[in-house]
Amino acid sequence: MVPDRECGACTVCCVALPIDSEEIQKAPGIACRHCQSGGGCGVYETRPNVCRIYHCGWRQMRELDEMWRPDLSDVLIELHNDAIPVAYTRRPAVRLYVLSDPQIVLKRGFVSLVVRLVANNIPTSLSVMGPRGCYPAVTFLNDLTRVASYAGDERGVSRAMGEMMAALAGYEYSPAVFKHSGNRTDLPEG
Ligand code: SF4
Ligand code: SF4
Repeated sequence: MVPDRECGACTVCCVALPIDSEEIQKAPGIACRHCQSGGGCGVYETRPNVCRIYHCGWRQMRELDEMWRPDLSDVLIELHNDAIPVAYTRRPAVRLYVLSDPQIVLKRGFVSLVVRLVANNIPTSLSVMGPRGCYPAVTFLNDLTRVASYAGDERGVSRAMGEMMAALAGYEYSPAVFKHSGNRTDLPEG
């Protein structure tokens, strides 16, 4: 964790991410009803364990500056150890969630980050948010951008990212399906 880095007014993870645990369930892209405008959790003292232990990549990666806070950057970065192709051996992997504007993947800061991650052989995936309540589209970037990233060729990576976003345009998003039940916090109480 980066010392002195706080969530502030950001509530992105409490809106964007799916949660499916025994204690709490919510669909992606829909705010948890405990999420407070202006930041914070309305049940902070008794929040579920899955929320207690979660910190996004911005809270953990010192190399990301303040402008990478998810509500400011429109990108949620996650470090994770699940759902990684076996060919990629480094851990943790990095998932880059595009929250709303697909053009963000062509911006210099985003492309530079992809180049750094892929050149260091970190499994790196792009997640594009779909309609409310649906899982995002996910694709790994390493194979598509490896040659350009090793060469530090940001234009080449940007081109590949553009092609990838065009290919995702026809993606069919799937509605969230839950394994657990009993506390759907994306629905009104009661
Ligand atoms: S996305 Fe990151 S910065 Fe934003 S509320 Fe969640 S943990 Fe905090
Ligand atoms: S209960 Fe969890 S998901 Fe809901 S607002 Fe609190 S921390 Fe966020």
